[in-house]
Amino acid sequence: MWCKIGSIGVWDLFGSIGIIWIWDFIRLSMTQIKINLGGIVPFSTIDWRGKAAMVIFLRRCPLRCIYCQNYNLLEDDNYVERQEIEEEIKKNEEFIDAVVLSGGEPFMQPGAIAAISEYAKKRSLFVAVQTNGFYPAVIESMLKEEGNAKLIDKIFLDVKVPLSDEKFYAKLTKVHNVAERVRNTLDVCVRAKIDLELVTTVFKNIVGAGEVKRIAKELEEAGAARCPYVIQQGRAELVPDRAIKEADVFSHEELKELAALAYHAADLENVRIRTREDGEEVIFKRRK
Ligand code: SF4
Repeated sequence: MWCKIGSIGVWDLFGSIGIIWIWDFIRLSMTQIKINLGGIVPFSTIDWRGKAAMVIFLRRCPLRCIYCQNYNLLEDDNYVERQEIEEEIKKNEEFIDAVVLSGGEPFMQPGAIAAISEYAKKRSLFVAVQTNGFYPAVIESMLKEEGNAKLIDKIFLDVKVPLSDEKFYAKLTKVHNVAERVRNTLDVCVRAKIDLELVTTVFKNIVGAGEVKRIAKELEEAGAARCPYVIQQGRAELVPDRAIKEADVFSHEELKELAALAYHAADLENVRIRTREDGEEVIFKRRK
């Protein structure tokens, strides 16, 4: 089942036309752009390990994950002028060294990413994007066009369930043919040699030991063994209608056990966990 969001069709069309053309479109749209803003967290140390970041949430997402914790960003719009966001960045720039674009799915608004990144770079800030990987052609165009690689310093890519399991992906995201797109995004990022971190959110009885082992193997096979793999604690209290119970949340110790399983299942260099209490911790680091 496809979600009825118009811009999906546009980007699909572009995907068949060519990535350079996409970038031309993005550049055009940057001049008069309004940004569909979900909110701003002025200061965060948990979204990008080792950096103090402002997190900017962009609205709308093509997926409808059963455990979505940002569901309030999925439906309504809130368009603001780019200058409004630029002023927020300027106001906080002495306290931060990076801007993280999150959502929703930021790559639904590539013009917004380009505009914010361009400004952040002028202020000497690093830029990262958290993505579900649904728009490989857009991501490829933004990483490939000469000179634009510098607009995005890091990608955090969700790998929600094993990429070889299209049915599982559809069950979790309520959208068909997602896994193939995420696989393509992974390939694009590996080929572009962008700083890449892979993230799996876990809940008992949904995504657990079997899945992280399979994902670890798939990451190794995709050439992403050197990228940090983060096993992230899902948060039941943020899921609407109590669809997921507190008992489904993995404890800190249980997450470490999942990290051990992933680490020993494949030749990954760096396996981490992320919890609400302690943020991101490196659990295994292989010396190469
Ligand atoms: S990809 Fe993220 S924002 Fe979109 S529905 Fe899934 S969890 Fe929510």
